[in-house]
Amino acid sequence: MSLTVGFDSFLGNPQAVTAVREMVASGRVPGALLFSGPEGVGKKTLAVMVAKALVCGREGGDFCGECARCRKAGQMLNAAREDLARRRDIKESARRVEGLIYFDLQIIEPITKFILADQIRQLRAIAYTRPFEFPRRVFIVDEAQTIHWQAIDLLLKVLEEPPETTTFILVCPNAFELRPTIRSRCTQVAFQPVSESIIQGLLAGERKLTAPQRELAARVAAGSIARARSFDPAEYERRRQPWVEYLDAVADRGTTAAGSGGNLRQAFESARALAEIRGDLEATLGVGYSLLSDLMRLLVNPAAETVVNVDLTSRMRNWAPKLGLDKVSKLKSGLDEAYRLQIRNVNPQLGFETLAIDVNSLHKPHSA
Ligand SMILES: [Zn+2]
Repeated sequence: MSLTVGFDSFLGNPQAVTAVREMVASGRVPGALLFSGPEGVGKKTLAVMVAKALVCGREGGDFCGECARCRKAGQMLNAAREDLARRRDIKESARRVEGLIYFDLQIIEPITKFILADQIRQLRAIAYTRPFEFPRRVFIVDEAQTIHWQAIDLLLKVLEEPPETTTFILVCPNAFELRPTIRSRCTQVAFQPVSESIIQGLLAGERKLTAPQRELAARVAAGSIARARSFDPAEYERRRQPWVEYLDAVADRGTTAAGSGGNLRQAFESARALAEIRGDLEATLGVGYSLLSDLMRLLVNPAAETVVNVDLTSRMRNWAPKLGLDKVSKLKSGLDEAYRLQIRNVNPQLGFETLAIDVNSLHKPHSA
């Protein structure tokens, strides 16, 4: 077990960590920071670390995780999490924001799809006042791109007249989703996908996976620590299996002679099995997508080492030339169609049936 504490315990994104460490150590933390970058790389985690470093009772531009203030910070975060969960459960929308209380360290998150105007009103009402328990207040606005349009001007006003007692950290996946006037008021800290070697190291330390599972997990995670941590090999396998059978069947039809009715039926059955996994259809489609993208990569560069389904490389090398770019891109657009039908709440089975028929009809001109 590692005993690393403070900023040293943060995984990946060394430039971002160095940047914020220097700000904290020099005592010159801007009034508003903007953390942007892909999902699951720890933006909010680092924002909380900065907040703790700003209030920690021990000197040194870091946080100890043990002093009274660090512990207090942890309690505030827990209480806020519980409060948020309770509010999300309230049916009557107007009552969801009733009696908002912000702690000195507060994460402001969307209660509904949005961060509501009342949440920002409360932020403004309190930002200029003296903190209750800490030397200063830190407000972390997570998913800042979801701030309701009615509240944007209000937030802008606060950022234009920065309060002395409060530091803001806005967190969002893409800085360009925020209005330029908001963006320009913040000091930006950009996050990158976490390197594969760091993710592999994390998996080796935290999870019981075989080496090939680890390799696959790191590829599927694509730089996201959160995705690597939650990767479930059995679940992934289950979602992938129908695709593998499907591709096997389609690739096979390309080489075997005419009487391939059995294979076509098999393809249909696979597609049907896929659509029956209704609850996680989006994830299932994502796995299909990753296989098709891998095939594209291998067709463009047979030596490609960047495939996601790394454990199936030799199988995919076998499929790729049999399918060809034409068929793979046709399959990809079939998936797009299935996805569109899915998000419009139309029976996704329709999409898969279209897909199977299209691929079949595409086969004919080739064999003619
Ligand atoms: Zn401390």
